[in-house]
Amino acid sequence: MEPKSLAETAELVSGLVKIPSVTGNAAKAGEAADFIVKWLGENGVSAKIKEFEKGFPTVIAQAGSGSRSLMLNGHLDVVPEGDHAKWGHDPYSGLISGKTVFGRGSVDMKSGLAVQMRLLSDFADKTDFRLIFAAVSDEETGGFNCSKHLAEEYLVDTVLVGEPGGSELIGVGEKGLLDVRLSGRGKTSHASRPSLGDNAIMKVVRDLERLSKVGEIDIQFPTELKEILQESIKENGKDVGIITFNPGTINGGTKLNVVPDACESDVDMRIPPGISIDNALSRIKGLLKEVDVSLLITSEPNYTSPTIPEVAKFIRIAKKHAPNARLIIKNGGTDGRYFRSKGMPVVAFGPGNYGLMHTYDECVSFSEIARAYDIYSEFLSSF
Ligand SMILES: [Zn+2]
Repeated sequence: MEPKSLAETAELVSGLVKIPSVTGNAAKAGEAADFIVKWLGENGVSAKIKEFEKGFPTVIAQAGSGSRSLMLNGHLDVVPEGDHAKWGHDPYSGLISGKTVFGRGSVDMKSGLAVQMRLLSDFADKTDFRLIFAAVSDEETGGFNCSKHLAEEYLVDTVLVGEPGGSELIGVGEKGLLDVRLSGRGKTSHASRPSLGDNAIMKVVRDLERLSKVGEIDIQFPTELKEILQESIKENGKDVGIITFNPGTINGGTKLNVVPDACESDVDMRIPPGISIDNALSRIKGLLKEVDVSLLITSEPNYTSPTIPEVAKFIRIAKKHAPNARLIIKNGGTDGRYFRSKGMPVVAFGPGNYGLMHTYDECVSFSEIARAYDIYSEFLSSF
């Protein structure tokens, strides 16, 4: 990447960071969307804003034509900044110090978005394929209002999601989500005579203990992902390969001296590729003995085969520029899942250290921005 272009792209990251487009804030999402449209306009690309759902803008731009198509997909929403006092700099100052851009979203994923915007501008008049750019505003809350609709409207040959990975982690798969509610029902009695009642809290507690063994369920990992799984475990720990279990809330009972007749606990479980939601759910029901289970939010685990020619090419190019480039399965979900569920190959790749996502003093280095640009650029040139 040319130094001048890099400096401008870093400025663009800073400009995006200055808009506190915290997920769910429709006004700020609109402001960020307007900013993107204006920047693209000033850089030779006409873009429009579409609201598939009211209050959730998606910036869409298209360049080039031809039978083949590629989508650059990024998100403009960020997670809240948390406690201001814990930041060394104002999270929304967009401070550029040395060769680093600081602030909320600099990693996740306004640097990736800026790289995609720069690419769109640079490639707009020289592609012999359809290049589609989409900046969505609700990735951090599940993508139901933007990317879900994009995946229904656009059938493209490849999707590049600009999620962070230090410009060296190549996301080809991600875990699914299985959020459930356990409901225990019992019978009230006076606490002095508990034998006359049936304690619903204890039913839930005992079943939570049983469910905590969910990580022992054997997963038939797809063969082509086995090596990637080992890399991912090195990168992100063993959680990536198992069904994880987190009871996040528990509510029950009415008063200290009353045996409770109702209790509920909401449990977050993440499912790796190799087991479906249906299969996981039936295994889970097999573990539970005393409560009812109902589904809250679910999404299937998903992956893109690294042997698909365009994906293999992206991997080759990434390894050329980043010797440490490696494939990973992400512990969390991205909007990529909507496109994978429609059969489209998806690669998640972008600047910004994975470990700095959603943290205080989130920051991104110029070198990661440049490397992401160079890899994307070479891929687009040869697409
Ligand atoms: Zn993100």
